[in-house]
Amino acid sequence: MSFIDDIFERSVKSRIFKRREVLMPDYVPEVLPHREAEIRRLAATLAPALRGERPNNVFIYGLTGTGKTAVTRFVLKKLEEKAGELRVPVRGIYVNCRHRDTPYRVLADIAESLEVRVPFTGLSTGEVFSRLVKKLRGRAGVLIVVLDEIDFLVKRHGDDVLYKLTRINEMLDGGSKVSIIGITNSVRFVESLDPRVKSSLSEEEMVFPPYTAEQIRDILEARAEEAFQPGVLDDDVIPLCAALAAREHGDARRALDLLRVAGEIAERRGLDRVTRSHVMEARNEIERDRVADVVRSLPLHGKLVLASIVMATGGGRHYTTTGEVYDLYLQLTSSINIEKVTFRRVSGIIGELDMLGLIVGRVTSRGRYGKTRVIELASDAEAIIEALSEDPMLDGVLEVIERRAGVSVRRRESP
Ligand code: ADP
Ligand code: MG
Repeated sequence: MSFIDDIFERSVKSRIFKRREVLMPDYVPEVLPHREAEIRRLAATLAPALRGERPNNVFIYGLTGTGKTAVTRFVLKKLEEKAGELRVPVRGIYVNCRHRDTPYRVLADIAESLEVRVPFTGLSTGEVFSRLVKKLRGRAGVLIVVLDEIDFLVKRHGDDVLYKLTRINEMLDGGSKVSIIGITNSVRFVESLDPRVKSSLSEEEMVFPPYTAEQIRDILEARAEEAFQPGVLDDDVIPLCAALAAREHGDARRALDLLRVAGEIAERRGLDRVTRSHVMEARNEIERDRVADVVRSLPLHGKLVLASIVMATGGGRHYTTTGEVYDLYLQLTSSINIEKVTFRRVSGIIGELDMLGLIVGRVTSRGRYGKTRVIELASDAEAIIEALSEDPMLDGVLEVIERRAGVSVRRRESP
């Protein structure tokens, strides 16, 4: 490296981070504390591939941030390395079904990993499948297909492609074998899966438990060592990140995000230390971003119902009911002059907002009038209104929403 590179490097060198990318979600670390048992079990399950045998299919589930993706990628990488050493044909392919969310894209990715050219569109899914089978027939060895976040695929397109993939070995002859590792964060999905598909997918089943605060602390410490300059973290930073993430079901991703964003905040301000107040700020920033993403993606009536809930709960200060929400919704739709949807539909939308984690609805029995749903706001009213303010359709009612919610927000420019 020449001296000029040195100069540049020194001037862009962060006082906080040594390697920030180590804290990014897609980084696969070399050590995974507290997942030794899972790594062992998955490795033992896949090991027969090194003898040319087909490993059992594996179905992995557990809440987000419990290390499912990291462990699977790690074991697959090690397996491929070993296979390379031993010169046995074992190939792994990782597909994230949240991003590859059609059967066509999933099959195309698998086919392309075997050097089958598949045009971006134009073929039928069946045709892609046939080409894949044909290619597999002409080769020997074990192919391990990881389908991560498999619920995204099945929710939108059914389980047909899964069914076909788990049966693909019946169409192959001796030398070529396919194993499937299916991963999901959604327990509800596991329950909803067709029993036929579930049973062929779960020749082995692994459940990843949430981490405890102490375990998350170890995970963060290992990562922080690589990610930060020595001595920049105050002693209470990692324990605080761990405690906050443990409160949210032991999510290691959340903990790493907190740590990374806290570091970014310190760096933005030109500081050379990260403190607990940066972690608290990071928490707000992450929560606002999460809320903003969800709110932006809502259709107009979803936004209007949400706005009505924000109003009806006084910005989250008290409970409300579907009836009150509907009244406010009617007022909003008539002030901006758009068609309203039915009470029933609004009730359905409230259920969807609940699924998205923006609100919490509970059904209670209220004396002789039967059941009522009690609705509570589950995220920050200010962050919601700020995101709502990006939608020009709501310009005319923003002031009313703010007044009834008892908050006022700074306006965001539409992105
Ligand atoms: P899941 O797939 O279960 O949602 P991930 O495997 O994506 O969770 O893990 C979330 C984040 O936490 C990733 O950045 C991952 O590298 C990290 N992580 C999870 N478990 C561990 C662990 N035991 N050691 C180190 N990092 C971990
Ligand atoms: Mg994952």
